[in-house]
Amino acid sequence: MKFEHSIERSAEHLRMALPLMSRQLSALHPVSYAVWYCYVSGESPELRQAVDQHLARHGQLDESATQALFCRHVAEVDPQTAQRVADGFQKVLSGMAESAALAGDQTERFGHSLSRLSEQLEDSRQPPDLQEMQSTTREMQRAAARLQQRLDDSRREIAMLRDEVRRARHESLVDGLTGLANRRAFDQRLAVLLAEQQAGGPSQPAAPCLLLTDIDHFKRINDSYGHAFGDQVIRAVAQVLQRHVPAAGMAARIGGEEFALLLPPVTLDEAGGLAEKVRATIAASRIRRQGDADALARVTVSLGVAPHRRGESAREFLDRADQALYASKEAGRDRVTVLAA
Ligand code: GH3
Ligand code: MG
Ligand code: MG
Repeated sequence: MKFEHSIERSAEHLRMALPLMSRQLSALHPVSYAVWYCYVSGESPELRQAVDQHLARHGQLDESATQALFCRHVAEVDPQTAQRVADGFQKVLSGMAESAALAGDQTERFGHSLSRLSEQLEDSRQPPDLQEMQSTTREMQRAAARLQQRLDDSRREIAMLRDEVRRARHESLVDGLTGLANRRAFDQRLAVLLAEQQAGGPSQPAAPCLLLTDIDHFKRINDSYGHAFGDQVIRAVAQVLQRHVPAAGMAARIGGEEFALLLPPVTLDEAGGLAEKVRATIAASRIRRQGDADALARVTVSLGVAPHRRGESAREFLDRADQALYASKEAGRDRVTVLAA
């Protein structure tokens, strides 16, 4: 998670975080602080919800709960990967320092040989010791080759570590079941989109739009056909969403059977039209159970669409889209509700 707050804003978060943090069982270390800073800054609604739930159930956060919240919501890679990568870099760096020191020693010795040779050349009474010169030169060549080899090894190792970080980062942003962006990636993208919107000029005809999608009566699907088939339905809905998301938007799985489409500035008509297409596509599709010839009658989804209002926070934006979704459920499901700008 990136923090891009002004000094004043972060100082305010600090004042709010300290008393909350000091009430917990966990020690006052940077990990605790990061969790509570995120909590008060409202950076991650999911973290907030998770903390509130934990406090309601257990009263306080202990070390392991704090660590778990940090890993799940704050850190970008899991701690084992971070440690492995840090150790790897450390090893590469000390290996390079060692090689450089060795090469330095050899260069110094070579320098001495050269100056001795030069003295011998100047002194006509003393024949130059060409044999010594030859062996020092060879040694120098070998040392240079060894150094090159070690530098190549280090370069390869660093590239591997970089790939590992990239992979871990990617995994931390992708939902394992569907391959869509996960809640964390969604929160990050939403924050970026709103910051861009804030930076843009006032009153644009198009605004970022949020489409929330929830599978209708999903519990029944699980109950009737089993959890594995429920997962298959989630994947199928995810595919439809992925097919409909525009290039600059994002499709994310933000809850068990809840999805979000985040659209870059579009008109409300465009967003509503897209939501309707998603609804109709899913309602028209039939998902077959693996190994079963009977097609499942129907899966439907309800959608809520909200355009972003200038100055509105991510939380408020999500809440309004959720209200629209709720209205669709209340009105009988398998429908789209679009909130006015
Ligand atoms: P509604 O139309 O009001 O949305 O009803 P619903 O049954 O879809 O909603 P409810 O929230 O009551 O149930 C959601 C169910 O989704 C409950 C939970 O067991 C199930 N669920 C959540 N995550 C997963 C998952 O990853 N896989 C499967 N198979 N089921 C899940
Ligand atoms: Mg739901
Ligand atoms: Mg549902």
